[in-house]
Amino acid sequence: MSSIWASYFTQNTLRVAPNTPTDTIDISNLNRQFLFRESDVGKPKAEVAAAFVEKRVKGVKITPYVGKIQDKDEDYYMQFKIIVCGLDSIEARRWINSTLAGMVDADDPESLKPLIDGGTEGFKGQSRVILPTLTSCIECQLDMHAPRAAVPLCTIATIPRQPQHCIEWAHQIAWQEKWKDEPFDSDNMEHISWIYGAALERSKQFSIPGVTFQMAQGVVKNIIPAIASTNAIIAASATSEAFKIATSCNPYLESYMMYAGEEGVYTYTFNAEQKPDCPVCGNLARKIEVDPETSLESFIESLGERAEAQLKKPSLRTEEKTLYQRFPPQLEEQTRCNLPLKLRELVSDGQEIAISDPAFAIDFRYKLVFK
Ligand SMILES: [Zn+2]
Repeated sequence: MSSIWASYFTQNTLRVAPNTPTDTIDISNLNRQFLFRESDVGKPKAEVAAAFVEKRVKGVKITPYVGKIQDKDEDYYMQFKIIVCGLDSIEARRWINSTLAGMVDADDPESLKPLIDGGTEGFKGQSRVILPTLTSCIECQLDMHAPRAAVPLCTIATIPRQPQHCIEWAHQIAWQEKWKDEPFDSDNMEHISWIYGAALERSKQFSIPGVTFQMAQGVVKNIIPAIASTNAIIAASATSEAFKIATSCNPYLESYMMYAGEEGVYTYTFNAEQKPDCPVCGNLARKIEVDPETSLESFIESLGERAEAQLKKPSLRTEEKTLYQRFPPQLEEQTRCNLPLKLRELVSDGQEIAISDPAFAIDFRYKLVFK
């Protein structure tokens, strides 16, 4: 076992500055993050966790690192045998996934780093084993991580169907009407109480049961509670898979385990499909349906929302020409004139384009199919 190195990440890529509250220990973490004590509040989680485990399990050496996973290069990741991730965003997962796939060199088996990814959301969780380029990857199943559809304002304003719609009504419409210039503060308990009361009234009008104070707080603060027992189950699964891969004592998970604990306990294991048109591990360009009359600008905007792309700052080019290049500023200026043009004026039906995005180290290949 001494030759096995594993790295465990908890950083969120969306965070701009290091040492933001999630990277350091907060008093509210102590109820569920059992490696930390009150005297650790304010210290970096990675360092305290490493010290705790080293003290508890003699002979183990852990090197903590506090920072963004994107700040490390391929050489850094090359030193590990297995990578175990407990990331809290899809962006971070896509980044490590594409970086590890980009590192694979067919002539060097050591360049292939198994990736074990665990994640939880309330009572639900999942763990998966990815052999970059050989098995299905995060990007193959990107559509499972589609951005949550926002409830249309008209539903909220006219015909609420769920208790959450009543809370959104109180939050987005009623608060403004009643309090005019007073900005809503989701940390102010009086404000939350008012929202709860207004939402409850509305839910009674429409005979929708289920509005609670906790739900009101959750909706307005956009909270998904972290549940210690779900985290423990997923952590146990991920570490078991790391152990199996490291020792070959048992076959490892192929390839996806989902856990649902909302009602009782349910787990399901399946082999997630590797997609031939996966932009990271496939050989074919991924099809993307477009209206040829759409402007390049609105197409670019839609790439952030589309489940099959989710690229926020894309630059696009065909084999022959650059359609739009975001950086550097000179190139942006040169290609800006394409933004108002219709797609049919720039590309042909079925044409392949390459999209780069500063959030990823690789290019994504898409095939534009006209509707
Ligand atoms: Zn893939």
